[in-house]
Amino acid sequence: MELYNSLTRKKEEFVSLEPGKVKMYTCGPTVYHYAHIGNLRSYIMEDVLEKYLRYLGYDVKRVMNITDVGHLSSDADTGEDKMLKGAKREHKTVMEIAQFYTDAFFEDCRKLNIKRPDVVEPATNCIPDFIEMIEGLLEKGFAYEAGGNVYFDTSKLKEYYVFNKQDQEDLAVGVRDGVEEDTNKRNKTDFVLWFTKSKFEDQELKWDSPWGVGYPGWHIECSCISRRYLGETLDIHAGGIDNAFPHHTNEIAQSEAYFGHKWCNYWFHVHHLNTTSGKMSKSKGEFLTVSLLEKQGYDPLVYRFFCLQSHYRKSLVFSDEGMQNAALAYQKLLQKVADLSPKEGENLDKEGAKALQENFRRGLDNDLNTSLAVTAVYDVLKAPVNDKTKLWLLEDFDQVLSLDLVEKARQLSQPEENGLEEEIEKLIAQRQEARKNKDFATADRIRDELKAQGILLEDTPQGVKWSRQK
Ligand code: AMP
Ligand code: ZN
Repeated sequence: MELYNSLTRKKEEFVSLEPGKVKMYTCGPTVYHYAHIGNLRSYIMEDVLEKYLRYLGYDVKRVMNITDVGHLSSDADTGEDKMLKGAKREHKTVMEIAQFYTDAFFEDCRKLNIKRPDVVEPATNCIPDFIEMIEGLLEKGFAYEAGGNVYFDTSKLKEYYVFNKQDQEDLAVGVRDGVEEDTNKRNKTDFVLWFTKSKFEDQELKWDSPWGVGYPGWHIECSCISRRYLGETLDIHAGGIDNAFPHHTNEIAQSEAYFGHKWCNYWFHVHHLNTTSGKMSKSKGEFLTVSLLEKQGYDPLVYRFFCLQSHYRKSLVFSDEGMQNAALAYQKLLQKVADLSPKEGENLDKEGAKALQENFRRGLDNDLNTSLAVTAVYDVLKAPVNDKTKLWLLEDFDQVLSLDLVEKARQLSQPEENGLEEEIEKLIAQRQEARKNKDFATADRIRDELKAQGILLEDTPQGVKWSRQK
């Protein structure tokens, strides 16, 4: 598979460090507000990458942090902690805000069929790891204390601007722009590893450290969480393009200075979802969420379909018209799938399927070209293979695309089943409510009733899943 690597600025053949295994790290959300559909574009495309690697047979271990401390209003280490801002807005504690928006984020992911990473770790769980790495950086001479804070000294690196060598001036301006200069910094690009002094003394969460009571900078969490679960090297680091600088640049600086060797081989950056008036951003306050799309009557998977139709390395403009077109196309596609009717005794056409699978893979092998992968779905529907083979292929491709093509088409052709499913969902909600109220007798009764109808329940970290007994 060829992937564009932001580090080398070229498409490269993907080769994992260890054959058959992939270590993948993803910057998780800052949980001070709902994720907007721009954030979720990044997570959808990263999900497709993870699932495609699995489809190719790799054993993927994917780790994601949850930013619940240290991400300040400006990426250049100034301003208020975003979490604190969220807590004030809603008159809650930072931890209440973090829990609420973490749950909301995974609920959105569930609706969009985004798989939960194997490890999800909030930054506030890893304070000792941060302290250990900062101590190491101080010992090695890559960090210094000034004015009560600990800073990373970017002048000690052979190379700091790893992603955009040609734009050094622009990036330096980005650091300074509109930001009061921090006179403790020895170099303009130095960044905070640990704060004990900030203008916002009412920071709610603080921890003891060798440098005084304080809290970590934003970047250190990703270096440390990745190290805790994936070791000293990484195959792929993923995130939105806005994080390439300064966040990812600083992650590389810290990790490579601490380990003394190269850290991550491939950097996968998803470009922005924009509105017609510019980048969608949480701090602007006006943004679209999955729930808003649902309120407008959209199935969340229509948004996934919308994203898959364009390449992750192009910015994508969201518009009502674009979404309406995606909804129409998705509905038509499901209808075509619903019209397939495999005959009794039909055999899988292995040769025909192989050629169509190669077609699907050709798209994704080419720097994860998901729009070609979607075209490969239409190619299946038109192909001279029997309906059984078509359905088999659609299920196969859906391991990566996760558009629920066959399942939704089945619901379309069996409307009476929909009513039944609604009934099941209602009973599950009642059971959850009973469990919340510690009424375990009712909860067990509902589970048994459903079991008697051949419906099995499974309690997972993402909520209750149900399936029909085979
Ligand atoms: P945040 O919650 O702000 O830490 O961002 C979570 C993820 O969403 C990061 O990977 C960001 O780079 C990404 N992101 C932020 N804004 C957008 C956008 N408009 N389009 C796509 N990805 C975005
Ligand atoms: Zn990160």
